Amino acid sequence: MKKGIHWDYHQNVEVNCICWVSFTINAAIKWPIKVETCYQCHPAFNKDRIIKKVVKWRMEKFLEKQKKIDSMKK
Ligand SMILES: [Zn+2]
Repeated sequence: MKKGIHWDYHQNVEVNCICWVSFTINAAIKWPIKVETCYQCHPAFNKDRIIKKVVKWRMEKFLEKQKKIDSMKK
Protein backbone atom coordinates (compact mmCIF):
# COMPACT_ATOMS: atom_id res chain seq x y z
CA MET A 1 0.00 0.00 0.00
CA LYS A 2 1.26 3.41 -0.94
CA LYS A 3 1.38 5.82 1.95
CA GLY A 4 0.14 9.32 1.41
CA ILE A 5 -2.79 11.59 1.86
CA HIS A 6 -5.75 9.35 2.34
CA TRP A 7 -9.06 9.77 4.06
CA ASP A 8 -11.72 7.22 4.55
CA TYR A 9 -15.03 8.00 3.01
CA HIS A 10 -17.72 8.48 5.62
CA GLN A 11 -21.43 8.47 5.19
CA ASN A 12 -23.86 10.77 6.96
CA VAL A 13 -21.40 13.39 8.08
CA GLU A 14 -23.30 16.06 9.94
CA VAL A 15 -23.23 19.55 8.47
CA ASN A 16 -24.42 22.50 10.53
CA CYS A 17 -25.18 25.81 8.93
CA ILE A 18 -25.20 29.13 10.75
CA CYS A 19 -28.89 29.42 9.83
CA TRP A 20 -29.43 26.41 12.15
CA VAL A 21 -30.18 24.00 9.36
CA SER A 22 -28.42 20.71 9.69
CA PHE A 23 -28.16 17.88 7.21
CA THR A 24 -25.88 15.04 6.38
CA ILE A 25 -23.54 14.44 3.49
CA ASN A 26 -21.03 11.83 2.44
CA ALA A 27 -17.56 13.20 2.97
CA ALA A 28 -13.98 12.25 3.52
CA ILE A 29 -14.07 13.41 7.11
CA LYS A 30 -16.09 12.10 9.99
CA TRP A 31 -16.62 15.00 12.36
CA PRO A 32 -19.39 17.62 12.15
CA ILE A 33 -18.87 20.35 9.58
CA LYS A 34 -19.80 23.99 10.05
CA VAL A 35 -20.82 26.00 7.01
CA GLU A 36 -21.88 29.60 6.53
CA THR A 37 -24.17 28.93 3.59
CA CYS A 38 -26.35 25.97 2.79
CA TYR A 39 -28.93 25.03 0.23
CA GLN A 40 -31.60 26.33 2.62
CA CYS A 41 -30.31 29.88 2.88
CA HIS A 42 -28.82 29.95 -0.61
CA PRO A 43 -30.80 28.36 -3.46
CA ALA A 44 -27.76 27.99 -5.72
CA PHE A 45 -25.88 26.11 -3.07
CA ASN A 46 -25.76 22.37 -3.30
CA LYS A 47 -24.23 19.60 -1.28
CA ASP A 48 -21.53 18.86 -3.83
CA ARG A 49 -20.19 22.36 -3.47
CA ILE A 50 -20.05 22.02 0.28
CA ILE A 51 -18.18 18.75 -0.01
CA LYS A 52 -15.68 20.26 -2.42
CA LYS A 53 -15.19 23.28 -0.20
CA VAL A 54 -14.73 21.21 2.93
CA VAL A 55 -12.37 18.76 1.29
CA LYS A 56 -10.29 21.64 -0.07
CA TRP A 57 -10.21 23.25 3.35
CA ARG A 58 -9.20 20.01 5.04
CA MET A 59 -6.48 19.52 2.45
CA GLU A 60 -5.06 22.98 3.09
CA LYS A 61 -5.10 22.45 6.85
CA PHE A 62 -3.48 19.07 6.46
CA LEU A 63 -0.70 20.43 4.26
CA GLU A 64 -0.15 23.32 6.67
CA LYS A 65 0.25 20.86 9.52
CA GLN A 66 2.61 18.70 7.51
CA LYS A 67 4.72 21.77 6.70
CA LYS A 68 4.94 22.64 10.39
CA ILE A 69 5.96 19.11 11.29
CA ASP A 70 8.59 19.13 8.55
CA SER A 71 10.03 22.46 9.66
CA MET A 72 10.22 21.24 13.26
CA LYS A 73 12.26 18.25 12.20
CA LYS A 74 14.93 20.46 10.64
ZN1 LIG B 1 -28.05 27.84 5.88
